[in-house]
Amino acid sequence: MFADGRLLGVRTTSRRSDTSEVPDHRLGEEVRATAVVLAAGAWSGSTAWLPEEARPPVRPVKGQVIELRSRNAEPVARHILASERVYLVPRNDGRLVIGATVEEMGYDTAVTAGGVHELLREAYRLLPDVAEMEWVGATAGLRPGTPNNLPLVGHGAIEGLVLATGHFRNGILLAPLAAQAIADLVASPDPKWRSSFIPSAENKGRTPEGVGR
Ligand SMILES: Cc1cc2nc3c(=O)[nH]c(=O)nc-3n(C[C@H](O)[C@H](O)[C@H](O)COP(=O)(O)OP(=O)(O)OC[C@H]3O[C@@H](n4cnc5c(N)ncnc54)[C@H](O)[C@@H]3O)c2cc1C
Repeated sequence: MFADGRLLGVRTTSRRSDTSEVPDHRLGEEVRATAVVLAAGAWSGSTAWLPEEARPPVRPVKGQVIELRSRNAEPVARHILASERVYLVPRNDGRLVIGATVEEMGYDTAVTAGGVHELLREAYRLLPDVAEMEWVGATAGLRPGTPNNLPLVGHGAIEGLVLATGHFRNGILLAPLAAQAIADLVASPDPKWRSSFIPSAENKGRTPEGVGR
């Protein structure tokens, strides 16, 4: 059931998910489907419309980024620069994106002095030229993290529920692959990704080495 573009509740043939906190007048359009793909990003673990036991172990991981620009509108570097703590992405118009903090702060998306300080300090160590650049702005977002920070892609805990979440720091990079895998999983009786991708049941116990930056 959708209202105002948000999924508010799901009824299955065998059980009804918990929509008790949702007033009836908000349960707008009903959409029938054989599968429901949970792709709610950092909110995937706090989906009130799913029974608690079916909610995947996804938590929000805050990331702050800042943007500077060169005074002459020329790129300050020809390539992406990266250290263990920061990455610098030069744009052709002279802007420089500096990211990103990794913070366990729940759903907080405030830009903080500490976050900006950390990014500027680490960026300066990598490229002292940043000290001469103009300030453009800063923003913060939420990544979907899992216990081992590997994606949760596969069948969920109740029939018809498909998980496409937990992509942590690589959700943009992995979007085409994840979309193909989920489409295959939902549409095909014998999906080719079943063994090669990462099903939800195997998420626990895997190590995060080599994943993300
Ligand atoms: C600062 C920062 C820098 C990053 N840099 C990179 C990078 O360089 N490369 C990279 O690959 N990844 C990067 N990421 C990670 C990437 O942004 C995430 O992995 C990716 O956005 C996850 O995609 P998603 O679709 O699962 O979740 P999201 O992009 O968060 O989308 C989930 C959507 O679901 C919506 N939603 C939630 N609940 C409901 C509901 N009940 N009904 C309807 N809609 C709902 C939300 O409003 C949201 O729009 C970065 C993240 C941050 C914060």
